[in-house]
Amino acid sequence: MDHFQLRDGVLHAEDVPLPRVAEEVGTPLYVYSRATLVRHARVFRDALSELKDPHIAFAVKSNPNLAVLRVLANEGYGADVVSGGELTRALKAGMKPEDIVFSGVGKTHAELQHGIEAGIGQFNIESEEEGYELAAIARRFGVKAACALRVNPDVDARTHEKISTGKRENKFGVPLDRAAEIYTGLASEDGLDMRGIAVHIGSQLADLEPLETAFGKVGALIAELREGGCSVTHADLGGGLGVPYKAGEELPAPAEYGKMVARVTKDWDVRLMFEPGRVIAGNAGVLLTKVIRVKRGIERPFVVVDAAMNDLARPAMYGAWHDFDAVEPTGEKTVAHIVGPICETGDTFAMDRECDVLGAGDLAVFRTAGAYGATMASSYNSRGFVAEVLVDGYKFAVVADRIAAGAIMDAEQVPDWLQD
Ligand SMILES: *Cc1c(COP(=O)(O)O)cnc(C)c1O
Repeated sequence: MDHFQLRDGVLHAEDVPLPRVAEEVGTPLYVYSRATLVRHARVFRDALSELKDPHIAFAVKSNPNLAVLRVLANEGYGADVVSGGELTRALKAGMKPEDIVFSGVGKTHAELQHGIEAGIGQFNIESEEEGYELAAIARRFGVKAACALRVNPDVDARTHEKISTGKRENKFGVPLDRAAEIYTGLASEDGLDMRGIAVHIGSQLADLEPLETAFGKVGALIAELREGGCSVTHADLGGGLGVPYKAGEELPAPAEYGKMVARVTKDWDVRLMFEPGRVIAGNAGVLLTKVIRVKRGIERPFVVVDAAMNDLARPAMYGAWHDFDAVEPTGEKTVAHIVGPICETGDTFAMDRECDVLGAGDLAVFRTAGAYGATMASSYNSRGFVAEVLVDGYKFAVVADRIAAGAIMDAEQVPDWLQD
């Protein structure tokens, strides 16, 4: 359930009509709903109510906007970060350092040190090399870094190959059959407090079975580690729950996920940690766009909108589907191709899509754009960075300014030796 609904024929975000936001802020524009974010955060937390004191860390990469992070911090969420930039954001948004988990396969020396200096709660180590490097830094600072070892369970998550992370050929985590040896080695390092196992097999999972298989392997590993004399007090089960991108699409509900987790982990005797991203933010945002013009095509019209693949990359990157709806639908339907202005055929949001009839100047939204939307924006074709707005009841605020193409150009220089 989200708070982007028609009222008197006009699409609203909560109590705010979208045409008003478009008029004040311009398009294209991301619009987030605070009530939807809060609702999703609570649904996910409630789904885990059978567990003792789970730790929930929002995957910042899915939507790193400071205002969005603040909404989730206020809900008691921590953060799962994958770069120094995201760590800085999480702290700035008010997340407590001890609630922050640092994931990522390529944390640099400077980023590891940044995490130590900030006093974050846990590092999810993705290789033994990273573990020894972190141990050396922690020793230098006279601290012990709390760590989980991320394992690669070699499970097919049955999602898009570019967002599958738990197959053996993927770059993430250490192979399961070497995990005990690596964990034991790292556990003897002065600078590390090896306390757990982490796993994350991919995103937009439409099926709980691969997750259950992966968690089963983690459970077996925890037992093996304890038999070998290692201490294991935490297990981080990652994120990955999918969201419906099409009206009527059925996906496992957070409650079913929670039940499965409670069943599989009931004898683990650890504190469980979670890193949801998409399931919290996905349906809490839309990309609001204006039709530039409708171009006659051979078989279908091309609806050319002012949003493009640089603003919302998922269709171009993953062939992803986003529902596309008029802000003021007349009830008349047509079949059209929905495209952006960028000079690349990849800049196509949908082909042969049944959609509302639209004309030049009309507003429309791409739904389910709150996760992996604005965060993946680029300035390709010398377009600016899209603006972001957060709605709360009857009020709204710009939470990220539009960055004009000219401002991006200001960071470029032509060297003297080219200027004659
Ligand atoms: C991307 C990512 C997540 C979040 O995935 P969602 O599918 O958005 O829930 C969680 N953990 C790690 C390590 C990730 O890389």
